Amino acid sequence: MTAPPAELNLAGNALTPGAQRSWWLREALAGENVPACPSLAEDMNTDVVIVGGGFTGLWAAHFLAQADPDLGIVVLEQDICGGGPSGRNGGFASGWWDELDSLVTLYGAEAAVRACRAISSSITGIGRFCEENGIDAWFERAGYMYAVTAPAHEKVCEEMVHMAREVGAPDELRELSAAEVRDRCASPAFHGGAFMRDGASVQPGLLARGLRRVVLEQGVTIHEGTTVTGLEAGPPAVVATVGGNVHAKQVVLALNAWATGWPQLQRRLVAWSSYIVLTAPAPDRLAAIGWTGGELISDLRTSLRYFRTTRDGRIAFGGGGGRARRTIDDAFTHDKHAVMQAAEGFRLMFPSFADVPLEDAWGGPIDVSPTHLPVFGTLEPGNVHFAVGYTGNGVAPTHLAGQVLADLVTGRDTDAVRLPMVNPKPRLFPPQPFRSWGAAVVRQAMIAKETAEEQGRHPNFLVSQLARMPRRMGYLLGH
Ligand SMILES: Cc1cc2nc3c(=O)[nH]c(=O)nc-3n(C[C@H](O)[C@H](O)[C@H](O)COP(=O)(O)OP(=O)(O)OC[C@H]3O[C@@H](n4cnc5c(N)ncnc54)[C@H](O)[C@@H]3O)c2cc1C
Repeated sequence: MTAPPAELNLAGNALTPGAQRSWWLREALAGENVPACPSLAEDMNTDVVIVGGGFTGLWAAHFLAQADPDLGIVVLEQDICGGGPSGRNGGFASGWWDELDSLVTLYGAEAAVRACRAISSSITGIGRFCEENGIDAWFERAGYMYAVTAPAHEKVCEEMVHMAREVGAPDELRELSAAEVRDRCASPAFHGGAFMRDGASVQPGLLARGLRRVVLEQGVTIHEGTTVTGLEAGPPAVVATVGGNVHAKQVVLALNAWATGWPQLQRRLVAWSSYIVLTAPAPDRLAAIGWTGGELISDLRTSLRYFRTTRDGRIAFGGGGGRARRTIDDAFTHDKHAVMQAAEGFRLMFPSFADVPLEDAWGGPIDVSPTHLPVFGTLEPGNVHFAVGYTGNGVAPTHLAGQVLADLVTGRDTDAVRLPMVNPKPRLFPPQPFRSWGAAVVRQAMIAKETAEEQGRHPNFLVSQLARMPRRMGYLLGH
């Protein structure tokens, strides 16, 4: 790997992605005074075993314990809780009003609006949970701005706003002129955009670790450093680990992109990487470009670039690159090329930060579904439940997933389990090796096409065709 170009101004931890945990999680762990949860070292019996200690698994544990305090609940996490993408993401807890096009196509207008309202309630629910439990996870509901960075995205933006109007929710998503966009954040790369009021930022490491603390207080058993190596659904189910087996009536799979290795779920997703770079504190520069309102911002590419500010005046800037892989390996955490791609996007959008170093960087896997939206449900024979396919938008949806999973486990008939993304007709990617090959080629083609469009060039014909392939095959991926 060649050294990063000097103009990217990468420094410190940004030069060694994967060698340390994300900046968010390091901050959260530094201020923490909660004991570690030991690995599983013997066989045990319980009512519900949850595999995965990210947001999905922890919210499910929280809502289950709330529903029935006597229920035996065990969470098994291979790393530490929040060590996966839940403690590494951009911290965008965003509404689904920008997803209406896909939601209406999949489920019809009425159900689509119900789904959007449920996600909005989850954003409120995350804020309330933090307040009630004394978790300062920097929750701030300042909205979400979409910035048009290429002419090809003007139409995408207009259609998004149009869809919100069509379903009777014009206040949720409204168009912004170029001047209005610049008032919120004066980047020379932004030409116009839209504003969604349902958007909150969080410090994801603090949220994940705060949630872990509350779940422990609720009496849930957590075993960290415990990798699940097998599942026999039973019933009763047997979940195998090196240290012992867990016998449980019900199982929740909260695996995110690691589900690519699980035969029960693997055709429902492909794994793509996403990376974030973080500037040194520069509050004066933020003030100079007028970005002091705390809004979440992204462009409208499929290889999305997303950015937000921190309390100490940094910008965390994610996306724009990364790759698709068959298994979750070092490419999701140690990829210096992907860090450089994110840094290039940052330097393009924020030229007035040229002398502000990018001093941290980290990455992780995202679980891309055929519709780019998650599904929650139950597998045969009826005692194994799952949530998968967040496609890089899981902070708010995992809160909803936790409620749905708790209701599926307890068998309650609630509004949550009647949402359209609960047990819909399965949509699957092709079997291997076509799945991995297709995902890798399409991901690179999408990035190349969108980069060319942004630079005012015509994308190469083959690249354009490949980037459009998912849509042609009936998947709701790409424009
Ligand atoms: C760089 C990046 C930026 C992102 N930015 C955003 C954002 O701004 N907003 C947003 O909404 N979403 C974002 N996402 C996506 C979001 O982080 C996820 O959708 C969300 O965290 C999913 O939560 P989860 O609990 O399902 O998954 P995870 O947090 O990945 O939890 C799954 C857990 O399962 C564990 N596990 C896996 N296999 C096993 C096993 N065999 N045994 C035991 N444990 C196992 C893993 O170690 C992991 O901790 C981003 C993702 C990345 C990578």
